[in-house]
Amino acid sequence: MDALPPLSFTPAVGEHAFTAKQKALLATAHELGRDKFAARAAHWDEEASFPFANYDDLRAAGLLKICVPEADGGLGADYPTYMMVAAEIGRFCGATALTWNMHVSSTMWTGVLADGIPMTESQRAEHLRRRQLHFRRVVQDGAIYAQPFSEGSAAAAGRAPFGTTARKVDGGWLVNGRKIFASLSGAADYYGVLCTEDKGDEKPDAKDTLYLAVPGRSAGFSISGDWNPLGMRGTVSRNLTFKDVFVSDDEQLMPRGIYYKGAQTWPAMFFTLAPTYLGLANAAYDFTVQYLRGEVPGEPPVKRRMYPTKQIAVAQMRIQLEQMRSLFLRAVLEARPHPSKDERMRLYAAQYSVMEGANDIARLAIRTCGGQGMMKHLPLERIYRDSRCGSLMLPWTAELVLDRMGRETLYEAGEKDE
Ligand SMILES: Cc1cc2nc3c(=O)[nH]c(=O)nc-3n(C[C@H](O)[C@H](O)[C@H](O)COP(=O)(O)OP(=O)(O)OC[C@H]3O[C@@H](n4cnc5c(N)ncnc54)[C@H](O)[C@@H]3O)c2cc1C
Repeated sequence: MDALPPLSFTPAVGEHAFTAKQKALLATAHELGRDKFAARAAHWDEEASFPFANYDDLRAAGLLKICVPEADGGLGADYPTYMMVAAEIGRFCGATALTWNMHVSSTMWTGVLADGIPMTESQRAEHLRRRQLHFRRVVQDGAIYAQPFSEGSAAAAGRAPFGTTARKVDGGWLVNGRKIFASLSGAADYYGVLCTEDKGDEKPDAKDTLYLAVPGRSAGFSISGDWNPLGMRGTVSRNLTFKDVFVSDDEQLMPRGIYYKGAQTWPAMFFTLAPTYLGLANAAYDFTVQYLRGEVPGEPPVKRRMYPTKQIAVAQMRIQLEQMRSLFLRAVLEARPHPSKDERMRLYAAQYSVMEGANDIARLAIRTCGGQGMMKHLPLERIYRDSRCGSLMLPWTAELVLDRMGRETLYEAGEKDE
């Protein structure tokens, strides 16, 4: 493996001393994206339909099980490796990368991240036993997991308990509630739902958050609502309703109370939406360079590179892209349970820079390429629309990141003003 030749392209995360596994996975993602996903992206966008064909390719390449541990039949990619590969997918199809993130995150929470979350001996044993079921579904059946957390309340921002509830019954749980923006709705086989344990008269408490996989065929489960958004149209993020949906005990993706601890232990998990947008920033930049050189396939070979204003714009885009790549790479390489305060600040800064930066670069790309460059048959206008969605993703929207950074800089834990 170590004798692998150097990559024939610069990955979306930039250059780095990649491991052999990282190189191999980056090459697979790049080839899939370039040869298959790029050409299909306009179709999912136009129809706002789910990229099923891309998922067949991801499955065939083993990428649905990228973060399932090797001992369970997966590829055993760690957090930084996943983040690098996800950026490469995002470079060719934003909707595929974003939905693939929802799926892979389900296997990361239960796999590589859960390993770093403190549990009692019996919780650990329960978790190791139960997660085998989920890993087996992904590895053997090629199953897809969605990650519907949002509800339209303060819960997805981490400021209130989830309104969706689960009540303990014999052999499992009864789930009731509603989720909004559930990417992969109708495409996923299982929906990894965050809900609050319903303890009768007790006040709902975020510490009682449960993480349950609801099979898409369950009685009482339904999908509703239109999906006709500005960007990321292929994610098909509709609403889910749960009406007395029974799920068995084995559908617990984490033991009771552990998700809450996990969210506190592993803030880097909320950074997993960012690689899609780093990929989009690369795509906008790549397109601009190709366009100005008159090298876009199917377009007249008109060169626009000789104008100093174009040269300056490309330089500005490259500077911003390099800043994003550097911060991104540092944040993913240093990600760990219980990061230091500086590491957490860098993570926020990386999230903000990538999510806002992707749209900045796409905006500059449109201004620089001009009117003909934003026609629907070219990818730039889709990249522009897709890139606008990054800073809306909870819990780390651009606004909430600023909010957290300011507050956590000026107040140490527990400090209050009189
Ligand atoms: C393409 C796409 C795909 C998505 N896929 C998924 C998915 O698969 N799973 C999932 O769980 N979610 C998903 N989401 C939802 C996303 O994470 C957000 O939950 C959603 O965009 C929030 O929209 P809203 O209008 O309800 O936000 P609101 O809750 O109305 O908030 C609006 C804005 O106000 C700010 N805000 C929110 N709460 C607070 C607060 N407590 N204090 C201060 N400011 C606050 C935030 O900046 C937020 O952007 C997706 C969203 C998009 C756009």
